[in-house]
Amino acid sequence: MKIRELVKSFEPYRVTEGGHPIRLDKNESPYDLPGWVKEEIFEELRELSFNRYPHITSMPMRKAIARFYGISPENVAVGNGGDELISYLVWLFEGDYIVTTPPSFGMYGFYAKLNEIPVVEVPLKEDFTIDGDAIAEKSKNARAVFIASPNNPTGNLQPEEEIIKVLDTGAVVVLDEAYAEFAGKSLWRLIEEYPNLIVLRTFSKAFSLAGVRTGYILANEEVVDALYRVKSPFSVGIMTMAAVKVVLRHYDLVERRVAKIIEERERIRKAFREFTYPSDANFLLMRLNAYEFLLEKGIVVRKLSGRLNGHIRVTVGRKWENRKLIEALREYLEVEGCG
Ligand SMILES: *Cc1c(COP(=O)(O)O)cnc(C)c1O
Repeated sequence: MKIRELVKSFEPYRVTEGGHPIRLDKNESPYDLPGWVKEEIFEELRELSFNRYPHITSMPMRKAIARFYGISPENVAVGNGGDELISYLVWLFEGDYIVTTPPSFGMYGFYAKLNEIPVVEVPLKEDFTIDGDAIAEKSKNARAVFIASPNNPTGNLQPEEEIIKVLDTGAVVVLDEAYAEFAGKSLWRLIEEYPNLIVLRTFSKAFSLAGVRTGYILANEEVVDALYRVKSPFSVGIMTMAAVKVVLRHYDLVERRVAKIIEERERIRKAFREFTYPSDANFLLMRLNAYEFLLEKGIVVRKLSGRLNGHIRVTVGRKWENRKLIEALREYLEVEGCG
């Protein structure tokens, strides 16, 4: 038996010794759901049959999301995390390769590689915006073009006119809006105009449900239909459906938390304006080589490499966590002699 090695290595997760690290490395919400919301989810669950498989195409959950947007459930598909949906979208459409725009989300390339699909990279411009013309040039034989807006790890929204340039070629565009709630802007309504547009969203970030694992796409009925023909049938369980149904009822809570996170984001940015890029998401890209220093202080952030070598990506945390972060970074700048 020969087992092929598809993925070279997973970086082992490091935690600081003793005490609990402040985890600002995965862009999760720093706020868990309040107890009363969890109780509502448990109430919801009490009514469901644990011995039965969930609905095969997750209709109850798709209906809840469709109602939230005022669209048809035929335009919604749900997955076990946005990641599961990406794992299909890299190969669902005909073509020779996928297009990505590095530095961006790593999972597009990860799933392409897993499926032995070549990746054509059209790097972001100096200011981290996409080059619509360059992407359009490469899109003719592409299975799909993956664009994240706001982009991870750079944090910026992508210009609408550049996205439109790519959409106008007719190529399939997966517009990953995992952080749209923090940007206050989304292009999801363009799905009515562009059947080649797939908008990807997740409950992992603004909705505090990273541990539940669920995301969804908003797209043309044909795309949704094609996806359900190939999708792993029962990947979204009843616990997920119950949680989503309840959190959508409490969107006002999500909005209040998003506002708090944005306020904190701007507070951190102001403290290190010289080294920090503007962000439309719940994290900040900093031109500081402070990964090891922060780890020593019990603060875990994301260390970046390649074009972003010497940069860190810092998730906005709770107020006290951000205070610790700011203190630690001030100390880092003093030690480094540039503060
Ligand atoms: C977090 C994230 C996702 C989705 O994550 P899931 O937890 O799998 O839903 C998708 N795209 C980007 C850019 C992300 O940062």
